Amino acid sequence: QKDFEARFRLPHLTDIFPHAAPIPSTFCLKMRTPIDGDFPGHYSSDEEWHGYINNNDRVLLKTIHYSSPTSAGAECIDPDCTWVEQWVHRAGPREKIYFRPEEVKAAIVTCGGLCPGLNDVIRQIVITLEIYGVKKIVGIPFGYRGFSDKELTEVPLSRKVVQNIHLSGGSLLGVSRGGPGVGDIVDSLEERGINMLFVLGGNGTHAGANAIHNECRKKQLKVSVIGVPKTIDNDILLMDKTFGFDTAVEEAQRAINSAYIEAHSAYHGIGIVKLMGRSSGFIAMQATLSSGQVDICLIPELLFNLHGPHGVLSHLKYLLQTKGSAVVCVAEGAGQDLLQKTNITDASGNIVFGDIGVYIQQETKKYFKEIGVHADVKYIDPTYMIRAVRANASDGILCTVLGQNAVHGAFAGYSGITVGLCNTHYAYFPIPEVISHPRLVDPNSRMWHRCLTSTGQPDFI
Ligand code: ATP
Ligand code: MG
Repeated sequence: QKDFEARFRLPHLTDIFPHAAPIPSTFCLKMRTPIDGDFPGHYSSDEEWHGYINNNDRVLLKTIHYSSPTSAGAECIDPDCTWVEQWVHRAGPREKIYFRPEEVKAAIVTCGGLCPGLNDVIRQIVITLEIYGVKKIVGIPFGYRGFSDKELTEVPLSRKVVQNIHLSGGSLLGVSRGGPGVGDIVDSLEERGINMLFVLGGNGTHAGANAIHNECRKKQLKVSVIGVPKTIDNDILLMDKTFGFDTAVEEAQRAINSAYIEAHSAYHGIGIVKLMGRSSGFIAMQATLSSGQVDICLIPELLFNLHGPHGVLSHLKYLLQTKGSAVVCVAEGAGQDLLQKTNITDASGNIVFGDIGVYIQQETKKYFKEIGVHADVKYIDPTYMIRAVRANASDGILCTVLGQNAVHGAFAGYSGITVGLCNTHYAYFPIPEVISHPRLVDPNSRMWHRCLTSTGQPDFI
């Protein structure tokens, strides 16, 4: 338990500046100040507000019960106790803040691939910073690259600039992979006078954000680095869901439905849909569950055979004989062991995957030709159509709260943290704890079994 507390302790500016004195937050008072003469006389700014989050407020992760105090062992602080609680810190506005708004220059950067909701988060970070009273807000164009590429200039941001950006997908600031090293990024932060950095991106981006945070500490810079996890795959540890995931599942329905209609309207039709999910099959699983039109769902967490008596192809033959058509939904990271290994990497150093969707399509056509059975195979890869759409309503809300909490976290003096939804509450996490490895679909979970019940598929091993 002690170890757990130490691991989940949030790095704070006072770790390196022990004498930094907090000042009272004006956040809520400002919230209550009439803007441009709206709501005249409605709010009294000296009214007490009870919405602040205490630094000790926690979100319970789980309670672990042990059969005896000895088996709880070192994990337990109290020698008589047989259970321990694991928790994380609640996100939200603090009554005492560690930055004077007039001294803040905040920057936002978006890295990696596109994900629905990026603009919603950017927008909300800007709006919340303005509510705190920050005047200097900039966007760094095209990911970390924007820190080093002299041709790319900072984008000034204000409520006016971001007002309607959530109405379209993509990122106002642009994204990229690769880019400068951490040393160069920190030098650039210093040069530009940036002391709050909001980083929107996946595991790679967060590894970078944590390295930036550590480098700033080493150089004794008063900089707060706050991450907002952007992963459409929903593969971040401890988080209920990440923004964009809900939208992706919803959009994936359209692809699955089209594949179903194509398959259903053809004689012996087979529709194959490839969805996102490099190491985790959450999108494929949820889209399968919600569509109810998928016969075979393949995810990276589970090995499968394509050929052989228990393989996917012989099940497809069975489906054509019994149902007349079939729909396959495969996650991009599934079945990589079946494809020829390459050592090709992208600009960020990620291994470029072989295209499992195309492979299944080709092998299916070959198989049915060989056994002399007619099959009409259609393949849909909606990846880039899904990633570029705007966030749906529930992701819009998630993004809004994440963006607000990112700003609260920075003003509270934290750095090297990221924000997420955990057991239905918003929480702050030290970055290394959530990116050590991807969150995976548990093949023994009830959710995966519900998925299998829905498709009716056997094990393909
Ligand atoms: P996605 O989910 O879209 O892949 P990602 O954040 O994982 O998002 P990457 O392309 O892997 O996307 O990384 C984004 C940025 O983070 C790149 O500019 C890359 O240089 C940087 N980066 C990746 N890994 C690290 C690392 N270990 N340390 C420092 N920077 C990193
Ligand atoms: Mg990544």
